[in-house]
Amino acid sequence: LLRFARCAGQSQARCQSTTAAQPKVVFSGIQPTGIPHLGNYLGALQQWVKLQDSIGPNDTVIYSIVDLHAITMPKDAAQLRTWRTQMLASLLAVGLDPAKSTIFYQSDVPAHTELMWMLSCHASMGYLSRMTQWKSKLDVSDSSTIDSEKVRSKLKLGLFSYPVLQAADILVHRATHVPVGDDQRQHLEFARELAIGFNANVLRAPVLVEPTTLLSPARRVMSLEKPAQKMSKSQGSELSRIYITDSEDEIRLKIRKARTDGIEGVSYDTEARPGVSNLIEMMCHLGGAENVDAIVGECKDLSMQAFKAKVADTVVEHLEPIRSSYLDYLDRPGALRDIAEQGAEKARKRAGDTMKDVKEAIGF
Ligand code: ATP
Repeated sequence: LLRFARCAGQSQARCQSTTAAQPKVVFSGIQPTGIPHLGNYLGALQQWVKLQDSIGPNDTVIYSIVDLHAITMPKDAAQLRTWRTQMLASLLAVGLDPAKSTIFYQSDVPAHTELMWMLSCHASMGYLSRMTQWKSKLDVSDSSTIDSEKVRSKLKLGLFSYPVLQAADILVHRATHVPVGDDQRQHLEFARELAIGFNANVLRAPVLVEPTTLLSPARRVMSLEKPAQKMSKSQGSELSRIYITDSEDEIRLKIRKARTDGIEGVSYDTEARPGVSNLIEMMCHLGGAENVDAIVGECKDLSMQAFKAKVADTVVEHLEPIRSSYLDYLDRPGALRDIAEQGAEKARKRAGDTMKDVKEAIGF
C-alpha cells in the first residue's frame, strides 16, 4: 500500500504512521454517470485494482458505485439503471475481484445517508460553500458564490451538500485510505476535518477514523477536446473522452481529433502545449514508462500524426482486454446481480457496526 501512497508525499507520511498498528481499510467510489473514461481509469480504477491486489490478510478493500451522488444532477430512471449495470461490469472488467473487494451500490446501504444526516447537523455551510466542484456542474463561473441570484436559482441542496454524503461514505466504513484523482482532494480534506470535529464535538470519542488521501500518479487526465478541462463522464462531448470500452476505431478517431497545436515535434509543456502534454501523460501512465521524458525522448522527432497513431496503439493495446471482458460481463446479468447483492450485504454489516457506535455516542 505504501508504494501507492508515494505519489503524494503528505499521504506517505500519514500512511506510515498508520501502517504499523492498524489494519488498513481502503474505500473509494465512482458515480454511475456513464461508462468510465481514461481519466477514471488512470486517476482511480487502475490504482483500485493495484490496492486490491497488494493488501494484507487483515486489510479490507471496499468500492462503491455511488448512485446517490449521481442523482445530484437530474437523471432519467432507465438511463440510470443502465449506467449502474454498465459501471458494475466495468469495475469487474478492469480487474476488481468480488472475492477480494467488497463492491456494492451505495443506495443498497442506507447507513450512508443516515450518517450523512448526522454529519450535516455539524457541517458548516461556510466551509461547504468554498468547495469548487459544484460550480463546474452548474455552468457558473469559478468565482461565483451562493449569494448570487444565478447560482441560488440553480443550486440544489443535494449538489451543495454532496461532500457531506461523500464524507459519510468514507467514514461509515472507517476507511483509513481513500484512493482518488486530484479533483477529489478538496472533498477528502473536508471529510478529514469533519471526522475530527464530529469526534471531538458531537461523539466526544474517537469513533470515526480520519482518512488518508491516496493520489494516483495520473492525478488529472484532461479532456481531448478542451485540454484545460478535466476529462469527465458528464461534461464535454463524446469526442472529449475515451471510454475504457471504446472500440479500436473509436479510440483512433478520438485521438486523431484530439486538440493539439501547430508546433513542430513532440515536447512536454503543460502550459504551452496542454493537448500534446495530455497525450504524453496518457501514454506514460498506460505504457508504464518511467516518466514523461522517456516518452518525449522516444517521440520528439515524430510528426503529430505519427505521434497520435503511436498514442492510439498504446491505448488500444491496453483497453482491448478490458473491452472484451466488459462485454462478457454484460451478457451475465444474473452474475452481476449476485455480486451486487453479496457486496451490499457485507457493506451493510460493516456500516451497521459503525452506526451502532455513532448512535450510542450521540445518545440515541
Ligand atoms: P462526472 O463527470 O459524472 O462528475 P467523473 O468522470 O468526474 O464523473 P467521478 O465518478 O466523479 O468521475 O469520479 C470517480 C473517480 O475518478 C474519482 O476518484 C475521481 O477523482 C477520478 N477522476 C475523475 N475524472 C478524472 C480525471 N479526468 N483524471 C483523473 N482522475 C479522475
